[in-house]
Amino acid sequence: MPATPATPIPPVRQVPLLDLKLQYQPLRERIRAEIDEIADAQAFILGPKVEAFERAICEYTGAPHAVGVSSGTDALLICMMALDVEPGDFVITTPYTFFATASCVTRVGAQPLFVDIDPTTFNMSVEKLRECLEKNRDKIGAGKIKAIIPIHLFGQSCAMDEIRALAAEFSEREKILVIEDAAQALGAQFPSEKEGIQQCGAIGELGIYSFYPSKNLGAFGDAGMVVSRDETLAHRLRVLRNHGMEPRYFHKMIGGNFRIDAIQAAVLRIKLPHLDEWSAKRRENARFYREEFARAGLEEKITLPVEAFSAEAQRAPNHHIYNQFVIRVSGDETRDALCRHLAANKIGYDIYYPVPLHLQECFAYLGYQKGDFPESERAARETLALPIFPELTREQQSYVVETIAAFFKKEHRAS
Ligand SMILES: *Cc1c(COP(=O)(O)O)cnc(C)c1O
Repeated sequence: MPATPATPIPPVRQVPLLDLKLQYQPLRERIRAEIDEIADAQAFILGPKVEAFERAICEYTGAPHAVGVSSGTDALLICMMALDVEPGDFVITTPYTFFATASCVTRVGAQPLFVDIDPTTFNMSVEKLRECLEKNRDKIGAGKIKAIIPIHLFGQSCAMDEIRALAAEFSEREKILVIEDAAQALGAQFPSEKEGIQQCGAIGELGIYSFYPSKNLGAFGDAGMVVSRDETLAHRLRVLRNHGMEPRYFHKMIGGNFRIDAIQAAVLRIKLPHLDEWSAKRRENARFYREEFARAGLEEKITLPVEAFSAEAQRAPNHHIYNQFVIRVSGDETRDALCRHLAANKIGYDIYYPVPLHLQECFAYLGYQKGDFPESERAARETLALPIFPELTREQQSYVVETIAAFFKKEHRAS
């Protein structure tokens, strides 16, 4: 009997959006030793592990003060509390971000004032920010606009020179502070004209990071950080994260329990020295996607992420650290059809974010309408994030691009 030719087994073709197990493997022993040490000491809250991690973040970002907290969300909230943002006050931000950027404002009884995004970067539009400040001079005059929160969305720095200049230009008696939501941008750099390379988060008066497990520096649970240039503010943050208590059981302010665990801090301190290498791999993956999309002739169909500071790449290689690799597909239902096609082919994706904040049900009372922020609304309809994690293989990336190419071929035939 003639031998039947061996049928080649096709490789398993599936790509998760993120695979944290791969990152854990090489760090496993060191992380477990740290956790063991904490378990033996039975010292779980704040303490030396947290202080060591706070110092490491100061060193890494150049921020003079760092205060570890329970999450990125709580980091934002505690900033509002430290600045005494209260009912009647306003904070400017964009509606195309994670919910917490705006909910921190409403949770202290104040109101977010939204400005639209720049459609190329998805970050706060400098022109729209100026318009908003001009339109609200009365509120500024009354000292009611407390801060601007730009978000370094997807790991790319905002135009911080312009944003800070506008904050300064429009400040009257009371300074309008800049609080950076750098939840997706630890390690990202901003090439400042005047101040040279700066680390996102450590540029404005305050900055926040999130260590939610899927962020580029992820904890083993929830954790976050506030960094501050100002010592008085840093002290307030420290007191507020522990019930506003100083000394023990004496409360001058109403704080909360916003403390970070020692285990989270210890895990994060082991991971932090690897962050730049992971960011470099993300950037390398982004570059390979660009090649593959070009090779597949998909440049017409898909808008790839735009690097706003690519001209500065020599000086600031990490101007975009690709916490997410977000593409845009135009056409009404195309994005959702493409997502279904990816799911059918076992490719992970996510949509950041399907509903802009001004149209969220819980913010209806703010009185915004559909059409108020057209670029945020369009981004919510047209964008999706592809796998970009550092351990992603070239084969997986090629499979993602092939799969997308097949989708557009099919679509072409169907139309
Ligand atoms: C993740 C995230 C947050 C909140 O961080 P958590 O640690 O999940 O509370 C805030 N803002 C942005 C832009 C985020 O991506």
